[in-house]
Amino acid sequence: MSKFGHQTIAVRGGIDTDTQYGAVVPPIYLSSNYTFKGYDQPREYDYARRGNPTRSQFAQALADLEGGSYGVITSTGLSAITTVIQLLSPQDTLVIPHDCYGGTYRMFDHLARRGLFTLVVVDQADEAALESALSQKPKMVWLETPSNPLLRIVDIKSIAAKAKAIDAYVVVDNTFLTPILQQPLSLGADIVIHSCTKYINGHSDVVAGAIVTKDQQLGIDLDWWANCIGTTGSAFDCYMAMRGLRTLPVRLQQHQQSAAKIAEFLASHPAVKHVYYPGFESHQQHELAKQQQAGFGAMLSFDLVGDIAQSQIFVQEIGLFCLAESLGGVESLVAHPATMTHAGMEESARITAGISNSLIRLSVGLESVDDLIGDLSQSLDAVLASV
Ligand SMILES: *Cc1c(COP(=O)(O)O)cnc(C)c1O
Repeated sequence: MSKFGHQTIAVRGGIDTDTQYGAVVPPIYLSSNYTFKGYDQPREYDYARRGNPTRSQFAQALADLEGGSYGVITSTGLSAITTVIQLLSPQDTLVIPHDCYGGTYRMFDHLARRGLFTLVVVDQADEAALESALSQKPKMVWLETPSNPLLRIVDIKSIAAKAKAIDAYVVVDNTFLTPILQQPLSLGADIVIHSCTKYINGHSDVVAGAIVTKDQQLGIDLDWWANCIGTTGSAFDCYMAMRGLRTLPVRLQQHQQSAAKIAEFLASHPAVKHVYYPGFESHQQHELAKQQQAGFGAMLSFDLVGDIAQSQIFVQEIGLFCLAESLGGVESLVAHPATMTHAGMEESARITAGISNSLIRLSVGLESVDDLIGDLSQSLDAVLASV
């Protein structure tokens, strides 16, 4: 555990550790292999799939930020998940939220179909449904909060306590908030995973993932698995992501501030039917968000008036927001879940899940907020003119 604050940990990872030249920023180690000092004398690192100094520095910084004891850096967020589920065997059950990240769901679903484990998909905010899922004695309970794209929030502490009572591993996907805004290990989780592709790297130029464990031995075991199945992250990506990590706390501060202003603006515009943003008192889990999170994050979504035609107009008129999937970069993004992130879902199931044809998701970036609001404003005016 680090005694330092978040900003210090984020900024100082690996700084001033170079013993050869005194480089302030740690050098990147691209070598795939390392010499033995001599006969039967291995060094700390031997082969880069297993271990790499650049990766170790990034892993340590993330573990410190999460308040965990061990970090494993993987090639993608999904490979972090692939690594974690090596803890499951065919007789085991995995409980996941019905609204988890699409790629996560796709992997779990397809692996479960092949008999690798039993999958139970549940609305974790529904107490009775959750109890029934837990009565099946799962080996692992997966959480993702806030959810994508509707920003639903579940109570990590309460679910973790119930899962612990039946000896299940509790895993939280903390990609949306990062350790700066949410600390699942302190709320009872055993494992946190990240898509570092999002806020942690934050510049939309790296795909990477991470695992942080509360227990040291569990981390060592997962590190062993990452090497065994080949999911570890590349040195170059670790170097880039650690560069991004240094500004994570200050980036998030600005991301959040702009998101709050944009949420207010959207709520006041007649072309917007509903805004999904946990910072609003009217949000169903606003109180829980205040308790569990150190901020409301910078992701939000909203329903336009009208239907699919209005979504098309909105997306065509918007200029500064890029029409793209992913999130958490310095640049603002807009997504239309019905035709993008959730296009694979059956329409009726999608609408039942609350993801309407006119739902728009924003990842609020770091441009001047007035410019972003100006952009949204002209696009929403065009929508209004069309209904
Ligand atoms: C993007 C994302 C993932 C997958 O991460 P990749 O880096 O794309 O493999 C997992 N969970 C959440 C919440 C995500 O947003």
